[in-house]
Amino acid sequence: MSGFRALPSVDQVLLAVPSLIDAHGRQAVTRTARLRLDAARAAIRDGADGAAEAARLPHLLAADLAAAAVTQLRPILNLTGTVLHTNLGRAILADEAIAAASAAMAAPLALEFDLTTGGRGQRDDHLRGLLCELTGAEDATIVNNNAAAVLIALNTFGQDRDSIVSRGELIEIGGAFRMPDIMARAGTRLVEVGTTNRTHPRDYRDAITDRTGLILKVHTSNYRIEGFTAEVPAPDLAAIARDAGVVMLNDLGAGSLVDLSRWGLRREPTVAEAVAEGADLITFSGDKLLGGPQAGFIVGRRDLIARINKNPMKRAVRLDKIRIAALQATLRLYLDPDRLDQRLPVLRMLSRSQADIAAQAARLAPQVAALLPDHRVVPTDCASQIGSGSLPTDTIPSAGLRISGAGGDAPDRLAAWLRDRPRPVIGHIRDGALILDLRCLDDDCDLLEALT
Ligand SMILES: *Cc1c(COP(=O)(O)O)cnc(C)c1O
Repeated sequence: MSGFRALPSVDQVLLAVPSLIDAHGRQAVTRTARLRLDAARAAIRDGADGAAEAARLPHLLAADLAAAAVTQLRPILNLTGTVLHTNLGRAILADEAIAAASAAMAAPLALEFDLTTGGRGQRDDHLRGLLCELTGAEDATIVNNNAAAVLIALNTFGQDRDSIVSRGELIEIGGAFRMPDIMARAGTRLVEVGTTNRTHPRDYRDAITDRTGLILKVHTSNYRIEGFTAEVPAPDLAAIARDAGVVMLNDLGAGSLVDLSRWGLRREPTVAEAVAEGADLITFSGDKLLGGPQAGFIVGRRDLIARINKNPMKRAVRLDKIRIAALQATLRLYLDPDRLDQRLPVLRMLSRSQADIAAQAARLAPQVAALLPDHRVVPTDCASQIGSGSLPTDTIPSAGLRISGAGGDAPDRLAAWLRDRPRPVIGHIRDGALILDLRCLDDDCDLLEALT
């Protein structure tokens, strides 16, 4: 039985593990070695054998360093069936956008510099023309996300003034975006009109006073009021706002740039339609249906966009060069809508046919079964969702794998094991089985490798 003297010194440990120092750096290895030596001394004090503790040391040290190097931010396989999953980072970017973002990260670029004149340029100029062309709007400004777009628009036109909203549109998006709270922070007074299920033109007209700054319309994408309902269509609301000389802001949320019914999907209002309906300003997200990085867009009247750009808040919510580059590349893909479903991952995934996904499920089921002994793996029909505030009941027919095992906790145990893979696999549990919706699985090999 040997004691403390069997333990090496920190310097001796460092001499013995050159490959760990190469991989993790001297500082991290030194710190971890000290912690491990402290733990070994404590164990010896409690009666453990010193030589045995010393022998375990290199292995434990390597394991500690490897564990510390693992990141939560590693690529995962999103087989939840929710294509735009906010908790999993929303849109996957197009190759063109990734290349543009990488280039912007690696070298200086003319972000606010005019290469023709050598004078100062505007960072939004890289996107304004494209946004106007794709939406028919007069002008555009770009901020950090759609929440910021709504905030700065409300602040610019509603600060210390009234903002009129229908009671049926006072939405919560999730992730702490609640319209009444955003309005309070924007410094505008919320004036609710109508009722939860019905709001009429006269409700808006009666609420307009000389204190009114704007009328807000919010696209209620994540829920639906059915039955005895009435809302004021955007063109009528735009006319009411115009007559009163106040701004009409239409928060579209997901705001598609193309008609999705072309690919067999449910129609979402497009930004161009919202512009044509006469709203003064329209806000929408960059990383929802648009399929780009996180961003918020405001498009509309030139004089109003100019006032938003003068708001000091603009500086606090502006975009960085990486996302501007990625957005420009993403928006350019929309100039060629015929190939959009091949080049824009969000659209490619959303538009995959159930037959195509079912064929993939049939192909993968026996291969996955071979990798998961003790489990039953069968192809199954399932239902995907768009996600990110789209109606949860508006599903897209899909297919995947249904994996079940012995014991009531089998799906939970399997889900935990899948989350722990070097490339984690995220599914969802339904009716006592784990479902892997294959809509977002581009390559069979990715799943097979993740399970191996
Ligand atoms: C999603 C959404 C927002 C928030 O957009 P982010 O880009 O997530 O900040 C605001 N309004 C509506 C209607 C939305 O759907």
